[in-house]
Amino acid sequence: MKNEMTYGDDYKFIPAISVKNGDLLEVTNGVLCYVDQIVNVIIVEAGGGCVLVDTGMPKSAEKVISVIEKRYGTGSKPMAILLTHGHFDHVGTVVDLVRKWNIPVFAHELELPFLTGEKDYPEPDSSVEGGMVAKISRFFPNEAIQLGDHVKPLPENGEVPFLEGFSWIHTPGHTPGHVSFFRKEDGLLIAGDAFVTVRQDSLYQVMSQIGEVSGPPRYFTTDWDASYLSLKKLVDVNPNVAVTGHGPPLGGPTLKEELESLLAHFKDVAVPDYGRFTH
Ligand SMILES: [Zn+2]
Ligand SMILES: [Zn+2]
Repeated sequence: MKNEMTYGDDYKFIPAISVKNGDLLEVTNGVLCYVDQIVNVIIVEAGGGCVLVDTGMPKSAEKVISVIEKRYGTGSKPMAILLTHGHFDHVGTVVDLVRKWNIPVFAHELELPFLTGEKDYPEPDSSVEGGMVAKISRFFPNEAIQLGDHVKPLPENGEVPFLEGFSWIHTPGHTPGHVSFFRKEDGLLIAGDAFVTVRQDSLYQVMSQIGEVSGPPRYFTTDWDASYLSLKKLVDVNPNVAVTGHGPPLGGPTLKEELESLLAHFKDVAVPDYGRFTH
């Protein structure tokens, strides 16, 4: 396999910054969340080291590296990178990080074509019902990145490399190989964009990061039936705390109530009334 790593040709700095930009929040025991502009990079501490879940926006590798070095010491690095999916705001620094750290990347088998230069995501649907964020989504990169054989499929048995006690859950819909990560012991869910905790149809809410359980970002979600079934899977594991790709961590009764409500009203509130990927 070709081993030269590249981003998509359309990768560039996206000038979207929220009030939480640069914050490092403790989600729960050994789980931290770094807010990179408008997307969350999650750090899970395990076995004396840490693992990174998703990697943030294009052109922000230096920031991610400095967050790790500040916390764990100069020259330290995570043991691996796990990807919930391959959208630009989740893989925006992964090539730089792998070059710097030479660590393995894991993703679902069905996401690998988008991570090995074989297949681009569909262009974001800026015509979708969903306010300003949908409108500006036409500037978002959608081309595949090329990680070569640095990216490996997650093990078929559901275990998560380097993270004992975690399992991965296939949650397609937003993308074909989207996964979420769950730790049964304390009910911690890392949901990626299977659902998010900020309303993506409100630019104000994205910038101010007001927490609210919402469906997957619409401009990139291609299969709403699969998204519904994936959300149901996540509600069924009964998470206590959730950290998603976008928005603040949520937990307790608020999380459970809002998740149940999103599931019950999925067609009305999550699925857009119009757009290229609705039917
Ligand atoms: Zn996404
Ligand atoms: Zn995202």
